[in-house]
Amino acid sequence: MTRTAYRTCPLCEATCGLEMTLAGDRVTHVRGDADDVFSRGYLCPKGALFGELEADPDRLTRPRIRNQQGELVDASWDAAYEEVSGRLHAVVEAHGRDAVALYLGNPNVHTLAGQLYVRPLVKALGTRNVFSASSVDQLPKHVSCGLLFGDPLAIPVPDIDRTDLLVILGGNPRVSNGSLWTAPDLPGRLTALQRRGGRLVVIDPRRTRTAAKADAHLAIRPGTDALLLAALVHTLAAEDLVRLPDHLGGNVAGIDDLLAALNPFTPEAVAPRCDVPADVIRQLARDLAAADRACVYGRLGTTTTRFGTTASWLVDVVNVLTGHLDVPGGAMFPLPAHHRPFRRPFRMGRWTSRATGLPEAIGELPVVALTDEMLTPGEGQVRTLVTVAGNPVISTPDSDRLDAAIAGLDLVVSVDPYVTATSRHADVILPPPSALHRAHMDLAFAGLSVRNVAHYSPPVLPLPTDRPDEWEILLTLSAIALGASPPVDVDSADAFVAHQLAEALVADPTAATDEDDAAALLDAVAPRTGPQRLLDLLVRAGPYGDGFGRRDGGMTLEQLEAAPHGIDLGPLTPRVPDVLRTTSRQVELAPAALLADVPRLVAELEVSGCDQDSLVLIGRRHLRTNNSWSHNVPGLAKGQKLCTLQLHPTDAAMRGLRDGDTATIRSRVGSIEVTVELTEDLRPGVASLPHGFGHDLDGIELSVARQEPGVNSNRLSPRDEVDPVSGTAVLNGIHIELSRAPTGA
Ligand code: SF4
Repeated sequence: MTRTAYRTCPLCEATCGLEMTLAGDRVTHVRGDADDVFSRGYLCPKGALFGELEADPDRLTRPRIRNQQGELVDASWDAAYEEVSGRLHAVVEAHGRDAVALYLGNPNVHTLAGQLYVRPLVKALGTRNVFSASSVDQLPKHVSCGLLFGDPLAIPVPDIDRTDLLVILGGNPRVSNGSLWTAPDLPGRLTALQRRGGRLVVIDPRRTRTAAKADAHLAIRPGTDALLLAALVHTLAAEDLVRLPDHLGGNVAGIDDLLAALNPFTPEAVAPRCDVPADVIRQLARDLAAADRACVYGRLGTTTTRFGTTASWLVDVVNVLTGHLDVPGGAMFPLPAHHRPFRRPFRMGRWTSRATGLPEAIGELPVVALTDEMLTPGEGQVRTLVTVAGNPVISTPDSDRLDAAIAGLDLVVSVDPYVTATSRHADVILPPPSALHRAHMDLAFAGLSVRNVAHYSPPVLPLPTDRPDEWEILLTLSAIALGASPPVDVDSADAFVAHQLAEALVADPTAATDEDDAAALLDAVAPRTGPQRLLDLLVRAGPYGDGFGRRDGGMTLEQLEAAPHGIDLGPLTPRVPDVLRTTSRQVELAPAALLADVPRLVAELEVSGCDQDSLVLIGRRHLRTNNSWSHNVPGLAKGQKLCTLQLHPTDAAMRGLRDGDTATIRSRVGSIEVTVELTEDLRPGVASLPHGFGHDLDGIELSVARQEPGVNSNRLSPRDEVDPVSGTAVLNGIHIELSRAPTGA
């Protein structure tokens, strides 16, 4: 007996609709949901193998506790919570709350538990030592948008379906399927752009799959995007091409200061450094200014560099000055279905890392500071690490040192379904149930979506009675962090969280409710509990919501439950000035924190091109992987060897290396051995290695991934090389030396 179930794919930002065939509790077939209002049947190999991921025998179903012999052994939930409680309370009592660090992995933005119940955990822990994968990825974009628009979550996205000219820097959406940009079937949307006569320009040191199909590919020198963008701005000003859409005209501040600061960046000045000819830069600026509908988009290749925040800022500056911000076909702000809390104007640096002095941003410290926070003695030294869906030993810089530092902690607690490079150090592992047992609604990605849509997926399978849901695990940890001892009354903790949200909604002038009594909102969503109660509150208070009876026919969670293929809320529409949260309620084109970084960029003009023999390392994505996830799925792991060092034949010949040889890569902080793959897709002087590999450390229980473990690129990335504005790690443009490994071919 089979049945069909629909669910949004939780594996990447594209949020495709899945149509799954189940026999009992086993997924036997997956295809794209042809009726999904957004993805319309699109599916990538990861989504197609969702059933294999669900059936993975390495997934933990019971907690693990480290025993006296140092082994991780199965335990009951009661025993696991007791262990956490006793030891966490002891650490906090002896050393204070900052002695506990929290690391949040990227999957948290793909789960309701991560979206709705991590914040209570952060509050309950009361530590300044909160870290996440953001600071090895997109933090510069949050910071630049916070400074420009006042809200770090107000990130404009390319309105791909209506644009005529799209310029992509450091992104490969034909492989990633979008990043900080939610658009299922981006390959199809890019093809459609070109078929309707539009142009795609890709600026990337590597001829990626996206670059190979572009109308133009500029193979820029890694890490110089900010210079090129500054020269685009210079050209726009010098040739009197600056124009603002009418509705932005009165809402833009700082143009004169901006143009004065960027005056040194003539195309001729930046061309030798970027290795992009001055006339090409100039023509690109003219094309952007002349296009009716155009957009510039920068992604990981621009953010994980020494000028990550400045480059992110200048992407949006070019969009503003060419008249393409907040207009159809340009860079636009989505309007999600759920209410997003009113935000005060963005501030950063509210505290700094004790050991490194790096600043806080969006409530967290840069993860490059984590190792030093563990190893530097003194008040506030981190002695306990709690990870939620995170694997920093693989994902963050200088991993060998971090690995050793975690091994020396008093207590490690991992909320994780696997024994990974990080959770193998855990004293307690608390495994959440698999995706099919959980409700799902993408809250983060609705804010990055190229169309306003809403999807809710109920659990496909009932949760086994002896297992807590992930949100219940996080609530239990929150209560323990506040001093409670197990067994925790999860229902009361959940009611408390719901009450806090209802109180915030009645106090929020932007929420769609006239109520001034939180209890009335909670009555309206009764008898729901858990994430569904919070979702119903957020949806009904949202911009399309029923306002708890205020708007006839407005959206409720019940409506979403009745729409398994999603609800289309229409194309993106202009949102300035409502979206702005700056103190001035204007787009601040010249924030002081970013102008202060310009002299550092000016100094880059003096750096000579690149010496003949030097090599820098950049990363790359593959369609079959997503960071360190999915390497344990047999159907995704088989076939092509993914973790290779791509190298231009010229660079290989200089070092006596041939295709298939084993090379030793050395950086300032580490060395690894890896198989060489020759390709002319890279510009000479640049080597490329994917991240997320290195699954062969002792104790890792990923039986499929271990067969082809790859090497961990973060063993090469120094933790003291950062974009100083945001503290984000420099992962693109690491200087390396390369030689034939002693083991040879
Ligand atoms: S593109 Fe992303 S969301 Fe779509 S099926 Fe693949 S992994 Fe899932």
